[in-house]
Amino acid sequence: SPVLVWLRRDLRLTDQAALFAACASGAPVIPVYVLDDETPRHRRMGGASRWWLHHSLERLARDLAARGSRLILRRGSSAKVLVALAQEVGAKEVYALHHYEPWWRNAERGVNSRLRLHLHHGNYLVPPGSLRTGSGTPFKIYTPFWRALQAHMPPLPPLPAPDQIAAPAHWPESDHLDSWGLLPTKPDWAGGMRGDWTPGETGAHQRLDAFADRAARYEQRRNLPSVPGTSMLSPHLHFGEISPTQAWHAVAGAGGSVETFLGEIGWRDYAANVIVQFPDYGSRNARDAFDSLKWRDGAEAEDDLAAWQHGRTGYPIVDAGMRQLWATGWMHNRVRMIAASFLVKHLLIDWRRGEQWFWDTLVDADYASNAVNWQWTAGTGVDSNMFVRIMAPLSQSDKFDAAGYIRQWVPELAGLSDAEIHDPQRPVRGYPAKRIDHRAARERALAAYAALKS
Ligand code: FAD
Repeated sequence: SPVLVWLRRDLRLTDQAALFAACASGAPVIPVYVLDDETPRHRRMGGASRWWLHHSLERLARDLAARGSRLILRRGSSAKVLVALAQEVGAKEVYALHHYEPWWRNAERGVNSRLRLHLHHGNYLVPPGSLRTGSGTPFKIYTPFWRALQAHMPPLPPLPAPDQIAAPAHWPESDHLDSWGLLPTKPDWAGGMRGDWTPGETGAHQRLDAFADRAARYEQRRNLPSVPGTSMLSPHLHFGEISPTQAWHAVAGAGGSVETFLGEIGWRDYAANVIVQFPDYGSRNARDAFDSLKWRDGAEAEDDLAAWQHGRTGYPIVDAGMRQLWATGWMHNRVRMIAASFLVKHLLIDWRRGEQWFWDTLVDADYASNAVNWQWTAGTGVDSNMFVRIMAPLSQSDKFDAAGYIRQWVPELAGLSDAEIHDPQRPVRGYPAKRIDHRAARERALAAYAALKS
């Protein structure tokens, strides 16, 4: 009888341990993707992710077809759908990669209670939660985590893609991808995303190849939003179109500052290691004391939130980042830090509102990485920046030479000189005044923190 390969955020054929093991079993293989908007507490994918998913599935279906296989699409509650499909085709075994979002772990338990679920490791450098401190507990702090992880490197060489995938005698029915409505229609906001990205395994390898030549200079350029210094692999890694192991092997010999890049891949592993320990990290302060911080709410705060979302805060670097996000589904990491800090500290708005906006608009929206970075910025996390360290957006913009980046994303300011553009000193037509003065914002944030402490 056939076996099922349950695909989730692992939409690739190479270095895909679940697919590899299913093929090695000798049984006919039925690859299936389930769109799950139904399971309670399953976080529904955001708009930008849905756009990405559509294209990634389209590509995967073609790659499977080239190996004599098919991609079966079903919709509904994951465990129920898989159990029903298994009954329909007479399958008893399911192969999948481990996923660590709390809803996926629940679904895995549901599948395992009715079918034989073979879970393989493969979306992280090491299994999240597996590295232990001297006292036997999982790591909470990044630096010692990374040190421990490096001791397990290099990872094993990536697994090859199967040449042919044995097909069942009869294929079960599949939904039509178009019927899932994953793409935006009115308005079609995905124009900038189509221009910038090629979802799917081939696009992922193109990005990786292009980056491998630049990897040695990563350290010098990664903080400069005006230059393409980083890999832009994040959505490909999130959807598992490429594994971190593949990225590691492609760049490890590059020399220069490649270690810094590998350390960022390590942050991705670290984030998964955190959500394994704190499954509700995306919605709860890790430091309980922050539960009583008086975040602003009400109409004025909502107006500020909308201005932030639409890139109209009057702080050019923040606005450039938020507009890049809206147009392309991605934002440079340095600018993510500045924009997130601005929301939390300058506008004193709860980090969870920012986390939700990023969840909806990022093509790389990732439960673990998003939550860990928001809590890091807000100072509420297990390992985080202190709340009282308030980033100064205008000097950050100058320090990291963001003039070209601002000109690209905030065309109203394109005529200003490099010296003026970070902090326009006179009104510019069409561009809003600052929503709040930096010093006043800083004092307000510090006062809110002081009230919390007393
Ligand atoms: P590179 O610099 O080329 O890094 C290589 C890879 O390492 C990335 O693709 C990513 O997988 C990983 N990585 C790099 N930095 C981090 C980090 N700080 N934390 C975790 N992994 C990292 N990243 C996401 O993938 N999804 C998110 O939802 C997400 N939300 C974020 C929210 C905030 C507030 C902040 C400050 C950062 C967030 N990041 C998130 C982390 C980081 O900004 C992106 O991973 C990075 O900008 C992606 O660009 P790149 O692929 O060119 O990164």
